[in-house]
Formats: sequence, C-alpha cells, structure tokens
Amino acid sequence: MPLNETMRRNQEHRAHRAGWLRAAVLGVNDGLVSTASLMVGVSAAMQSDSVILTTGLAGIAAGALSMAVGEYVSVRSQVDIEESDRALEEDQHATNPEGEFLELVQIYMARGLTEDLAKQVAEQMHAHNAIETHLRDELGQFEHTMARPLQASVASALSFTSGGLIPFLGFYLPIISSNSIRITAVTIVGLAIAGFISAKTAGTNLLKGTARVVGGGMIGMIITGAIGAFAHSAGL
Ligand SMILES: [Zn+2]
Repeated sequence: MPLNETMRRNQEHRAHRAGWLRAAVLGVNDGLVSTASLMVGVSAAMQSDSVILTTGLAGIAAGALSMAVGEYVSVRSQVDIEESDRALEEDQHATNPEGEFLELVQIYMARGLTEDLAKQVAEQMHAHNAIETHLRDELGQFEHTMARPLQASVASALSFTSGGLIPFLGFYLPIISSNSIRITAVTIVGLAIAGFISAKTAGTNLLKGTARVVGGGMIGMIITGAIGAFAHSAGL
C-alpha cells in the first residue's frame, strides 16, 4: 500500500477526537437532562409557567458556568501533570543521558524488538528528538491527546447551553398541554438526536449509543419528576 494511502486511512481513527468529543457529549447530555429535570420537577410541583421558565434559564446558566469551571480545573491539572513530566524528563536527560538511552532500549525490547534493533532505533530517536521520544514512547503523551483547558472549558459551557436550550424552547412548542409531559417528550427527542450524533462521531454502534443516552436521560427526568411531585404532595 502506498504511504499516502496508509496515512489517509490512519486519519480515519477517532482517538484524536476523544478530548473535545467527550466534553461536548457530556455537556449536551448534561444540559438536556439537568435543565429538563429541573423544569419537570418544578412543573410536577404544579408551579406556574413563569416559575418553570425561570428555573430552566437559571439552570442553564448555573450548569454552563459550573461545567466551564469544573472542566477547566480538571483539564488544567492534567496539563500540570504533563508539564511536570516533561520537566522531570528533561532533568533526567541532562543528568543521566546513558540511563535514559538504556531505558528507551528496554521499552522497545519490551515491545518486541531485538536488542540490536532496539539500540538502533533508540539511537536514531535520540538523535532526532530525545525528549519528545521519551514523552511519547515512555509516558504516552501525544500531540493530539494533549490537554487543552480553555478549549475544553468553552466546549463544555457551549454544549451544556445548547443541550439546555432544547427543553427550554420545547416549553413553547404548541404540542401536548401538560407541561411536564411536553418537556419530557421534547427532551427525549433531543436526547435521541444527541445520542445519535455522538455515536456517529465516535464511530460506535448507532442504536446502542442512542439508547444509552436516551435511557440515562429518562431515568434522570423520572427521578426528578417524582421528587417534584412528592415535594408538592408533601406540601413543601
Ligand atoms: Zn525517559
């Protein structure tokens, strides 16, 4: 197979999408389910339209901000780990280059190369870029999987908001008069679309991926709706 063809085929792999896809899927699902659950919970407690809508908006704002901050903090700590790994590696290369060379030879031998070939590869890799080689082959750091806190934070906030807007806007649809049933129905449609898109992007089984997202979301709404109804009947 020609090299170009091989490279094109390799680009079909999905691993490089893992970071932002995970954040975006999580955000949309979270926005959909938590906003819908809040609105269903409040409407099950027989609150007025304006209370339900205010709850929805406040839920979207609170959720988007908390997702953004949470994602930033968690990804930022991943960056800290990557940076301190790099500093440690640079330090070891400065103080013990021989040991680092042998370490790389060991790694390649453990992956199946003969000692001779492992030494040749290690020599050439060290001549090319020793630090990058160690970060990749020893610590598993790749350029395309590097943690990007700001990107992850913005992606989470935006995806939470777009998920949350579905039940919120669904409230205005002129279908089904019961508020809680209408919000639930619109949300299930939204969950199905979100689940389908994420399964498609991730390249996983469409039916399973969609069912997982819809099922998980429905459980959330049912529980919150039940709590709202209970709170109302208990006279809270
Ligand atoms: Zn090393």
